[in-house]
Amino acid sequence: MSTLTFRIADVEAEQGKKSYSFELKPDWVEEAVLDTEYSAATNIGTVSVDIRLVEQDVVVTGRFKAPLSAICGRCNSRVEFEVASKLSAYICPAASQADLPPELELTPEDLERDYYEGEEVSLDALVRETILLEAPSQPRCEGDCSLDLPEPTEIKRESPLSALLNLKKDLKS
Ligand SMILES: [Zn+2]
Repeated sequence: MSTLTFRIADVEAEQGKKSYSFELKPDWVEEAVLDTEYSAATNIGTVSVDIRLVEQDVVVTGRFKAPLSAICGRCNSRVEFEVASKLSAYICPAASQADLPPELELTPEDLERDYYEGEEVSLDALVRETILLEAPSQPRCEGDCSLDLPEPTEIKRESPLSALLNLKKDLKS
């Protein structure tokens, strides 16, 4: 599912600078966090980016908000939270990747580059990766949720033996 896309021609038509806003719908977020401890929350997130063209290269700066939910590690209840972060990327046409001689040593800067093919650029992978990078590794409720747990005295105590005897009585009657 690719929904965070824009056309190079549209940015060229605006003198090489254009801003975009996208919605992050729960079904998009759900797919982005598949196979992780996170799920999508019910509300809708946002992505807003400024796109600048440097010849055929694309400079992306902006930010996003992604509502997520997860199980709190303290009280086991589902907690909703928002992952918000800056976005930045330098995206080159895929053809320029092939131009590099194979023996050329890649600098760390080169490795951070993304590539696009054709007339359209998709930011889906960039946003997905940034969400997973910025999501809290141990989601917790805000505040001290362990205080909300029932007091031990409120739990009805019954020894396994008496439970068994009660069961026997029930069966006989
Ligand atoms: Zn909690």
